[in-house]
Amino acid sequence: MEKTLCIIKPDAVKNSFVEEINKSIKSNGLEIINSKQIQLSKKIAEDFYSEHAERPFFSELVEFMTSDFSVVQILQGEDAISTYRKLMGATNPEEAEEGTLRARFAESLSKNAVHGSDSADSAIREIDIMSKIFD
Ligand code: ATP
Ligand code: MG
Repeated sequence: MEKTLCIIKPDAVKNSFVEEINKSIKSNGLEIINSKQIQLSKKIAEDFYSEHAERPFFSELVEFMTSDFSVVQILQGEDAISTYRKLMGATNPEEAEEGTLRARFAESLSKNAVHGSDSADSAIREIDIMSKIFD
C-alpha cells in the first residue's frame, strides 16, 4: 500500500473544512493513518518547501504555512499519491476541476486549502520530515 503526505492548510482549517475534506479523502478509498493539528514552525515549513526556496513566492508561502494551525496527515491506499493529487485538483483553484478539493475549498493560489506529495520520492521525504510531529 502506498503512502502520501497530506496537509490541510491554515485557510481550510480556519474555515472549518477539515471534516468535509477528510470525508472526501475516505470516500476516495484512502485511509488516514496519522493526523495531527499543529502550527508548523518556520524551520519545518522552510525545509518542507525547500524545492521552492529560490521562487519569488517562497517567503509568502512559508509565512502563510506558519500563520496558524494546519492538519498534517499520512494517507494510505492503492496509488495513494496520484489518487490524492487528482482529488486535490490544480494548484490554482481557478484552474481546478469541479468537485476537486481546491475547487471546493481553496480561497486563492496561495491559500489553496491542501497539500499533497507529488511523487514517490517526495512522499518519502515529506513523511520523514513530518514523522517527528506524530511522536
Ligand atoms: P503543494 O506543494 O502545496 O501541494 P502544488 O504541488 O500543487 O502545491 P507547488 O508548485 O509545489 O504546487 O507550489 C507549492 C505552493 O506554493 C502551492 O500550493 C501554492 O500555494 C504556492 N504557489 C505556487 N505557485 C505560486 C505563485 N506563482 N504565487 C504564489 N504562490 C504560489
Ligand atoms: Mg508541491
